[in-house]
Amino acid sequence: VWNFSAGPAALPLAVLERAQRDMLDWNGSGASVMEQSHRGKRFIAMAAQAEADLRELMQIPADYAVLFLQGGATQHFAQIPMNLAGEGDSADYVVSGHWSAKAVSEARPYVRVNVAASNEPHDFLQLPPRDSWRLDPGAAYVHYTPNETIHGVEFHDIPDVGGTVPLVADLSSNILSEPLEVSRFGLIYAGAQKNIGPSGLVLMIIRRDLLQRAGRPMARIFRYAEHAAADSMLNTPNTWGWYVAGLTFQWLKEQGGLGTMAARNRAKAELLYRAIDGSGGYYRNPIELSARSRMNVRFTLHDGALDAAFLQESEAAGLLALKGHKALGGMRASLYNAVPLEAVEALVAFMRDFSQRHG
Ligand code: PLP
Repeated sequence: VWNFSAGPAALPLAVLERAQRDMLDWNGSGASVMEQSHRGKRFIAMAAQAEADLRELMQIPADYAVLFLQGGATQHFAQIPMNLAGEGDSADYVVSGHWSAKAVSEARPYVRVNVAASNEPHDFLQLPPRDSWRLDPGAAYVHYTPNETIHGVEFHDIPDVGGTVPLVADLSSNILSEPLEVSRFGLIYAGAQKNIGPSGLVLMIIRRDLLQRAGRPMARIFRYAEHAAADSMLNTPNTWGWYVAGLTFQWLKEQGGLGTMAARNRAKAELLYRAIDGSGGYYRNPIELSARSRMNVRFTLHDGALDAAFLQESEAAGLLALKGHKALGGMRASLYNAVPLEAVEALVAFMRDFSQRHG
């Protein structure tokens, strides 16, 4: 069975098997990791190792803090402006699909939002060209979403926003899918449930000087500087999520790191897009070529009346969760790190067979 879910998504089988082995007796402790104090020696050592492994994988410079937070990416749509923008400040937002639009609406109560660019008029089928962005040099930060999970568009380069305005990126659906130049960003954040681990955990990488921003009056629990000072243990963290994230980081290192993942992810996406484009119009992907996502591949069938049969037969063939997002319909195959090339080969073979049988 291959799982193409957009999120919560498949985890690497080796990670699940290791978690299963550890479930009742983690690390010789006689209990599950979920049943142990986050202040205990074992957990602290695991947490430190997870951070060290992530730092090595992503080559995170020392002047960045790594935080293991909660609340989902959505909570941080609001918490980022609370922390990075003072009263009366404005921030630039680039809108390239559903999630960046949601980031805007959740930020509005806390910052004056300047929508610097939006591709909504083009139905988000391409990315807003960099030369169309109306950036404000006085903005508190520039926010964008490198991969739009629902719309299936992805930035393949880090945009140059010039000057000293920090770039903030919601990497929820493409973190760890390729090497990334962390020093180009002020803040990176990601909900864990695609390429990291279970939902409920949020990973944040933040340049330490931004922790000094006053933001606005707020409870300590909302302040990133407090979380950094407490090593992400200001309150009880998501211990299970943190532990599984640590297993994923180890797995990624064993695979050869992010360069290897990038090559695999490129090969997977190319195989599927080639099958769609080469189907003579039986399957279609509407996204401009240069903006196509490697992680979330949308496609429609030439006749929507076949959708139900496609979904039923694909599931029976062990190809799970191909139904597109309800806002867009059609199909979507999510090809995160845990999905091997073999899964995409099986999908492509099924698609070819389906098109022959259903004419
Ligand atoms: N941002 C992106 C790019 C997403 O794909 C998602 C969906 O999972 C979210 C934000 C929302 O994340 P969460 O459900 O963790 O709040």
